[in-house]
Amino acid sequence: MKTGIKRKKKLDKFTLKEYGINAVLMAIIFLFGLYFSWELSNFAGMLYLLLWVASYFVIHATTCRNCVYHGKQCPVPLEGGCSHLTFERGNNFGLIAGVGGLLAFFLRLCIPYVAIIKAGSMMYFVLYSGIVILFFYVLLYHTGCPNCINTKCPMNPDFNAPSQS
Ligand code: SF4
Repeated sequence: MKTGIKRKKKLDKFTLKEYGINAVLMAIIFLFGLYFSWELSNFAGMLYLLLWVASYFVIHATTCRNCVYHGKQCPVPLEGGCSHLTFERGNNFGLIAGVGGLLAFFLRLCIPYVAIIKAGSMMYFVLYSGIVILFFYVLLYHTGCPNCINTKCPMNPDFNAPSQS
């Protein structure tokens, strides 16, 4: 099945050169989110930090442990490369992996969006949404998926291809 994403390389392990831009964009998302949440209240700021930590357990448990990058650096910092520290390898990269990934990003983004809506700032909304969209665009079409070897993922250029390392 063709995903529309063009294959670049097949990386067994990502290096800082390939995932560095994702790390920078993720750090910007995190810091903007922290700022917006703390602007709402100290409680929201603390909850935001707790949900970020929880999001890694969620994505490790559902997605990363079942991915070929379990225990190896993947395109996203602290995910595949740290998943072996929390959960043992699984072998079921299916619907639950996708749901877990979505849930992890919901946990990371929900408090900032509540804060932005409460602040009523269109500028914050556009700025934050723009960075989030840019992160996913770069990950899916440039740095991550085009180089990924997890052929069980629907975003992989070789989705459902027979070879899987
Ligand atoms: S194809 Fe993309 S979304 Fe899927 S596991 Fe690989 S990098 Fe992640």
